[in-house]
Amino acid sequence: MTVSASMRVPYSPLLQQFADPQVILDDIAALAKSGDFTLGRAVTEFEGRVIAMTGLPHAVGMSSGTDALTLPLKALGVGPGDEVIVPSNSFVATAGAAAVLGATPVFVDNLDDFTIDPDAIERAITKRTRAIIPVHLTGMMADMPVIADLAWKRSLWIVEDAAQAMGATLYGKHAGTWGIAAGISLHPLKMLNVWGDGGVTVTHDANLAENLRLLRNHGLESRDDAVCFGWNSRLSSLQAVVANHVIQTLPAAIGRRRANAAYLDAALAHLSPLVQTPIHRPGVEPVYQTYILRCERRNELQRFMLDRGVDVKVHYPRPMHLQTVGQHLGYKPGDLPVAERHAQTILTLPMHEFLTDDDLGYVIEQIEAFYA
Ligand SMILES: *Cc1c(COP(=O)(O)O)cnc(C)c1O
Repeated sequence: MTVSASMRVPYSPLLQQFADPQVILDDIAALAKSGDFTLGRAVTEFEGRVIAMTGLPHAVGMSSGTDALTLPLKALGVGPGDEVIVPSNSFVATAGAAAVLGATPVFVDNLDDFTIDPDAIERAITKRTRAIIPVHLTGMMADMPVIADLAWKRSLWIVEDAAQAMGATLYGKHAGTWGIAAGISLHPLKMLNVWGDGGVTVTHDANLAENLRLLRNHGLESRDDAVCFGWNSRLSSLQAVVANHVIQTLPAAIGRRRANAAYLDAALAHLSPLVQTPIHRPGVEPVYQTYILRCERRNELQRFMLDRGVDVKVHYPRPMHLQTVGQHLGYKPGDLPVAERHAQTILTLPMHEFLTDDDLGYVIEQIEAFYA
């Protein structure tokens, strides 16, 4: 393998993924000529493709992953006075989805595999608890059978945050199977990505799906009759055109990411415990939205990798309970020790379907050089 000082391993796959956009642009031109810009055929086709890929019977396109979480919570009646349990180590939208409805997010700790700790959920349940939002962070599924069991016993709703987990399965089943619904993001850096914002909610509940269709479109049952007040959270028809292309390449991309992850797992195993590779829960087929190490001397390693052209990142450097919004809710350092330890030790490596063996070899070599 040749290693040059100018070697660069980019974090984002976008430039390679859309290097030749012509087929997508052709379909956008056809959309432009059709005038079918509000929901319409492209969105319906996309929802059908999501149903086919996830195995869930209902999919409702939304304007973002955040709305794909918020609207099911709204449809389930979550609102002021309610508490919603969320892991602190997530993107802020997980908690924001509940908070914008007037509910109080209750932050709990996570396990070493970065998913929510079921025991911590149990301890956080109060009379006011209404729902739990497990996050399938990194594209690894949370411990859903255990979480579903405890939610069932306490009559709590589960809305799964599958923003990072389109295509991931647990015991062969997609997110949305254990909870009443799951929200998926189509953000450019998510697994199923479009050229801007978009999202989709999947559910096995026909009644909920119907309510989501109303809520995303002003509560309109027909052109002239609103049966409730809602939002404008429609998935853009133009983004649906993009998504209809990308979803067809997703299975291959997931396959490549799994192969890359297996390669990194094997090559970095000898560095344990200085470097620990992602933990795989039994039964999970993850998608590796991100590939996150836990490592000693993280800040030094991060600088070392960036200096050598490896575009590493940290997801996320501040758990939500330690962000300004968490202080307002009364949290303080030390409250959630695992999330806080991870914030100091995690490092996200480039992980996408366009990485070559040379790229991966170079990344591994730099990590080995750092700890040598
Ligand atoms: C990206 C993301 C969201 C929000 O999705 P958007 O499409 O950006 O609104 C929610 N939760 C998690 C875990 C995410 O990674």
